[in-house]
Amino acid sequence: MHIYKVGGAVRDRLLGRPVSDIDWLVVGATVEEMHAKGYRPVGADFPVFLHPTTGEEYALARTERKSGRGYGGFTFHASPDVTLEEDLIRRDLTINAMAEDEAGVLYDPYHGKNDLDQRLLRHVSPAFAEDPLRVLRVARFAARYAPLGFRVAGETLELMRQISASGELQALTAERSWKEIERALMEAQPQVFFQVLQACGALPELLPELEDDTQALVALEQAALHEQPLHVRWACLLHGLAPASIKAVNQRLKAPRECQELALLTGECLAQGNQALALPAMALLELLQKFDVYRRPQRFEDFLVACQMTAFGEGKAGYPQADYLRGAAAAARAVDVKPLVQAGLTGQALGEALKAERLEALEVYQRS
Ligand code: ATP
Ligand code: MG
Repeated sequence: MHIYKVGGAVRDRLLGRPVSDIDWLVVGATVEEMHAKGYRPVGADFPVFLHPTTGEEYALARTERKSGRGYGGFTFHASPDVTLEEDLIRRDLTINAMAEDEAGVLYDPYHGKNDLDQRLLRHVSPAFAEDPLRVLRVARFAARYAPLGFRVAGETLELMRQISASGELQALTAERSWKEIERALMEAQPQVFFQVLQACGALPELLPELEDDTQALVALEQAALHEQPLHVRWACLLHGLAPASIKAVNQRLKAPRECQELALLTGECLAQGNQALALPAMALLELLQKFDVYRRPQRFEDFLVACQMTAFGEGKAGYPQADYLRGAAAAARAVDVKPLVQAGLTGQALGEALKAERLEALEVYQRS
C-alpha cells in the first residue's frame, strides 16, 4: 500500500502557510489490512481510519457517485484497485487535489500547482456539481485566500451559478451550511465569502435577507479587521435587518445561542446605542436592563463593540457612544442591593427600589 499526504496540508505547504491538520490517503489497501495494522475505523460504513498513535485521519482511496438529492446522496466505492488519480478527481478544487508521497514527491494530475501559482480556485471536474456544499466551500476559500490575490475561475463560477439556479442548495442541512458560514466568518476577509455567494446567485438561496443590504458587509469587514470573535461578526452581518428577519435567519441556520442572542439584541438596540448621548436616564436604564448588564456584562460589551464596528463601516472615525454607555453601565452596576435587603425589602418592592436607585445613579452620571 502507498500513503500520501493530500488536500489542505499539501496546498498550504506550497503556499507557505501553516499546516494545521494533515489528511492522509491510503492507496492499495483493504479494510482488513488497516485493522491488522492497528488503525481504528472512524465510522461503521465510511472508509476512514485513525492512526494508532498520532490519531490523524487516514482515508482509503475511493470513488463517489451521486445517488440522490442533498447530503447523504452519495455512494462510495473504496477498494484496493482505486488509483490515486481516481481518488483525486472527486475532490472540489484543483488546489485541493494534489498529493505528496513519503519521499516528498508531488502528484498533481489536475494541475493544482499551476492554479496555485495563478491564484485560481478552479473545480477539478464536472462532478463538482454533485455536492452543493462545494459552492460554500469555494466561497470560503475565496475569503481565506483573498489576501493572497486568489479569485474564482470563470468556468467554476459558472458551474456555481448553475448549482444555485437548480435549487440544490435548499437540500443542504442547516448544520453543514452553518459549519461553512462559521468558518468563513472567521477568515481574514469574510465579506468576500458573501460577495462570491452573491456573484453566483447563491445568496438569494441561502440568505435572501441580506440581498440588498449594503451595510452588512462593510460592518463585517470592520469586525474582521478588528479581529472580533464569531458572535460579534455575526451580529455585525445581521445588524441592519428587522428583528423578525434576524430571528428567521438565526433559526433557519441553527446558529449557536451566543450568536443568535447577540445578533437579535444588536438588531433591536443599535438605534438606541447610536443615540446614547441623547437618551433620557429612563431609556438608558431600560437598555441596560434589556441586556441584563448586571449579570451579563460581557454581552453588553460585545454589543458596544458590534455597534462600533457598524459605525466604522459607515466611515465614522470613532464611536463615543461606547465609552459613554460603559460609564452608564458601571454607574448602574455600582448600586448596592445589600442595604435595600437589610432594610427588609423583598420581591417586587425590592425590584422597584433597586430600579429607582439605579435611575438616580444614571441621572447623577449624566450630570457629571
Ligand atoms: P482546511 O484548511 O479548511 O482544513 P482542507 O482542504 O484540508 O482545508 P478539509 O475539509 O479538511 O479541507 O478536506 C480535506 C480535503 O478533502 C480537501 O482538500 C478536498 O480535497 C476534500 N474535500 C473535503 N470536502 C469536500 C467536498 N465537499 N467535496 C469535494 N472534496 C472535498
Ligand atoms: Mg483539512
